[in-house]
Formats: sequence, structure tokens, C-alpha cells
Amino acid sequence: MAKQALYRKYRPSTFEEVVGQEHITRTLANQIKSGEISHAYLFTGSRGTGKTSTARIFAKAINCLNPQNGSPCYNCDACKNLSNPSSVDIIEIDAASNNRVDEIRQLRENVKFSPALAKYKVYIIDEVHMLTDSAFNALLKTLEEPPPHVVFILGTTEVQKLPATIVSRCLEFDFRLVPLETLENLLKKIFEQENISYTNEAIRILASSGEGSVRDMLSIADCCCSYSKNLDENNVLKVLGKSNIDILLNFAKAISEKKIGSCLEQINDVYNSGKNLVVFAREIGELFRELLICKTCNRPQDILTLSIESINKLKIIAEDMIEEELIKYLSIFSEVEMQLKFAISPRVLLENACLEAIAGELKKNE
Ligand SMILES: [Zn+2]
Repeated sequence: MAKQALYRKYRPSTFEEVVGQEHITRTLANQIKSGEISHAYLFTGSRGTGKTSTARIFAKAINCLNPQNGSPCYNCDACKNLSNPSSVDIIEIDAASNNRVDEIRQLRENVKFSPALAKYKVYIIDEVHMLTDSAFNALLKTLEEPPPHVVFILGTTEVQKLPATIVSRCLEFDFRLVPLETLENLLKKIFEQENISYTNEAIRILASSGEGSVRDMLSIADCCCSYSKNLDENNVLKVLGKSNIDILLNFAKAISEKKIGSCLEQINDVYNSGKNLVVFAREIGELFRELLICKTCNRPQDILTLSIESINKLKIIAEDMIEEELIKYLSIFSEVEMQLKFAISPRVLLENACLEAIAGELKKNE
């Protein structure tokens, strides 16, 4: 049997299992408990933050005959019916591929009919901002006078593209990026169930690579698990194609201490190791940004997705660096990252960027 992706395997099935969105799941569970259901919901927010999973849980919960703390019980006839893939009472539409007015007109025809077995017929329309203008108008007519047995859940990553007339008809919930610590705890729990050994540093790198998205984090974790069942920092960095932080720090130090020879040697090492120089330049740019934030902000931990230990380490290194120089390095390496993508001799271009960063300073000191 094909291996099931972690993201699918650990998809939440109750409101309690949805991570990082308690402000939403609690309200929805309360609506189930009190029976005060709206006819149109709008779930907004970045990809991989739980919009579709929450919509599916809610669609089952409003039909469940015996909800448990607001979530579906998965035991009653209604839950069993709706868990059947052939059920016609929860209809999922991907607006990215069904965005024409004809399809929405069809939907308007269909909403008139009562649900086959359930109490409510639920339409989950993902990526709703992809609908055409005329499709929006057709949808609006349905939202203005929804039949009592129909509930709409609209999902979008780009709420600003929705007509205000649609938004104002819906109860809106904004899904937030999932905090780093929540992602870390989720990943630890999953790795323990999957019998994957890990180091805390590996967890930290994977969680921050997810950038607030459970789906993205688990997709990256999947790749790492296929590579090894012992996930330490080095294995994870290898799969991600990222550099060890010590290598990056050495390079940054050589720049700020204006050691041209050391910089060129380090670029040579990176080049010979077969690493992508675009990625390396991006990592160096990111490191200078982190150093600048550690040097200038009172609470760098609020901005950076780094552990307190890493932040303290960066703070000490940043003490010896000059604010204006850090700003210059950040700008030089961000710029060269863009140029490297199209460069014929990326190595020479990166070397030039280092010389510019160092020699520019030498000139100023004369
Ligand atoms: Zn049930």
C-alpha cells in the first residue's frame, strides 16, 4: 500500500484537533452547542492553516445527531452517512477549476433540493476568489435568499479579491498563521506516533520552514522522513538544501571583519560542495537581517522564528557589528540573490558581492 502523506494521515477530525485556531474553533463549537447556525461562513487566511479541515468538521458537526463538545461524534447515522465518500449532502467545489457562471447557476438549481439524508446540505467552496464576476453575481443571489436547509462555507486565501457584497453576507473567520511553538509540539507528537527519532534542533528547523502552515511543515517533514528515520539537524538541513548555521555565521563574521581571503575560500568550499549559490546568498541575506533585528530590537523573539538560545548567540555576535554595515550587507546580499538566478558565472558574481560589501567599507574608512 502506498504510504499516506503525514498531512492526510493527521488531518484533524474534531475541533480540538485543529491547531492554532482556537479563536475560531471555540466559536464554531459553541454555535453547534447552541444550535445558532448561520447560512454563510467565510474562512479566510493563508494556505495550510486549517480552513478546509475546519469546514469539513463543521459540515459534519451541524448534521451530527449527538455532537461531542461541538464536534461530530462519527458514530451516529448522520456522521456515518456523511463520512461515506458517495454522500451528496456535503458538496466540495474548487472554485479554481469551476469558476464559470454556468457552474454557479447549476449550483443555484441544486440548492433548492432538500438534503438526501442529512439535516443540512453544506456547500464548501474553496478558493472562492477565483470565481468570475458573473459567477459572483449568481452566487450572491443564492446568498441573499438561502433555502433554510443550506449552509455555505466559502474559503479563500485572498479575501481582498472578494466583492464586498459577498463578504457582508457571510460570518467571517480569519485563520492565522500557526505559531512556531504550536507547530513544534504538533510535529513532536506526530514523530512519536510514527516512531521517528528527532532532535529538538531538527524540530525547530522543520517548524520554522513551515512558516505558519501545518500543511507546508508536514510536507517538508514527509521528505525528511523518507530520507531518514533519525532526524537530526544535519539530516534535515541536507534535505532542505540549507546550510549549517555555523557555516553561515563564519561567513558573516569574515565579511564584517573584512577578511577577503577567508570569504573567497568559504565561497569556494560552498561551490565545491555542490550547494546552490542562490540559496546560500539568500541564507546569508537572512542571517544579516536576523543579526540586524537582534542588534536593534528589544524583543527580537517576537519577530524571528528562532529559539531563545539562537537569538542570544546572534545578539553576542551582533554586538561587534555596526548597524549601518548590517543594513548595507543585507541590501547587497538580497540584491545579489536576485541577480544570481540569471547569472552565467554565479560564483564570480557572489565573489564580487563580497568584495563590494568589504571594499566599500575600506573606501569609506580612508
Ligand atoms: Zn454524529
